[in-house]
Amino acid sequence: MRISTKIIHGDFPNPDPHGSLKFPIYDSVAFEFNSAKDIENAFLGRTLAHSYSRISNPTVSEFERRLATVSDAYGVVSTSSGMAAITAVLLSISGKEANILSSPYLFGNTYSLFEKTLKRFGLSVKYIDFHNPEQIEKAIDENTVAIYLETITNPQLAIFDIESIVNIASRYRLLTLLDNTLATFYLFSSREWGINIEVISTTKYISGGATTIGGAILDYGNYDYSYNRFLSDEAQKYGKNALLVRLKREVHRNTGVCLSPHNAYLQLLGMETLPLRVEKSCSNALILAQRLIGHPKIKNVNYPGLEDSRYFKNAKKYLKGWYGSLFTLELPSKEACFTFIDNLKLIRKATNLHDNKTLIIHPASTIFCEYPPQKRKELGVSEEMVRIAVGIEDVEDIYEDIIQALEVI
Ligand SMILES: *Cc1c(COP(=O)(O)O)cnc(C)c1O
Repeated sequence: MRISTKIIHGDFPNPDPHGSLKFPIYDSVAFEFNSAKDIENAFLGRTLAHSYSRISNPTVSEFERRLATVSDAYGVVSTSSGMAAITAVLLSISGKEANILSSPYLFGNTYSLFEKTLKRFGLSVKYIDFHNPEQIEKAIDENTVAIYLETITNPQLAIFDIESIVNIASRYRLLTLLDNTLATFYLFSSREWGINIEVISTTKYISGGATTIGGAILDYGNYDYSYNRFLSDEAQKYGKNALLVRLKREVHRNTGVCLSPHNAYLQLLGMETLPLRVEKSCSNALILAQRLIGHPKIKNVNYPGLEDSRYFKNAKKYLKGWYGSLFTLELPSKEACFTFIDNLKLIRKATNLHDNKTLIIHPASTIFCEYPPQKRKELGVSEEMVRIAVGIEDVEDIYEDIIQALEVI
């Protein structure tokens, strides 16, 4: 089966007694057992029976199973949000004095999680310019456990040379941890490029047009966890399943970052139309970016699909002929950005992406507002930049809206 067919049909058995074509929502907290022995077996992990929906739930498990099938992951654990997925993985693979290596080009809340929340618990992050992978090698020390990266960074839209980063990681037996939210498994295959663990905010493309918040951790089963000192006991006992066991029987369960059955249902439904929405929004973004080049009010159009983009080569190499649905515009000033945003009639002012609607935001004054201008500069977020997350409308309507708003600035 090819990917779009697989997303719809998978090899999903239909166990529903009524023949329902949709997997039902099992909205129950607890599940009943026939005997004390059966409960014991479930708690010991000898059977896969559901006991309590914070730990597992049939609708949520179906979502995880389908995600694993279509992404080719070995195992999937879903979470209440993308941030919950990132947090749960980091709490699972690290501990006191551990460090991870990352580019400073990161989703804003991920940077805040690293710099504020996790720092207090002794996990540190070393920021390296991933444009020069050899710098990564120099920064590795005996406490380094993983290299963290984003497929297309948000909002800088950088695409690093993932292959050389993976090569360094495997030479030093480090885990590679990829936030694949902007590309999804539809545009970037972690399995093919040797990524070990993928995190994804299913809030975005998967949810079917911004219906619900959700996240997932995808383990590709290609890392030997005995090389991670925080997981070596699990690796001895459970081999390839070390991380999945750590999550399911400890971190995911104890932190309560479970996805709700309602949200899992909506995300299952949303996932079925993923290819249509990815292709339409990426195609719209490419047309818009190409047509906006050279507009007198625009200082720069930043989109990895433009031939003169610094990231065009990597985009071609990794993204299966598409370039994502986000682009940024550099306008003459912050004031010009605000005026432009205020004069848009169709494009909505909102902080999200992969909605069916085209959305716009000024990242410096919103997602990155907690940092001083100098810090924002280091993070690749300029005051003159607006981010447009392109939706699936008719491209001419989006284009006309942008043009009329540019005339005002
Ligand atoms: C939105 C986003 C997240 C966080 O996801 P939530 O579901 O909002 O918690 C993480 N990484 C990237 C790249 C994102 O765009």
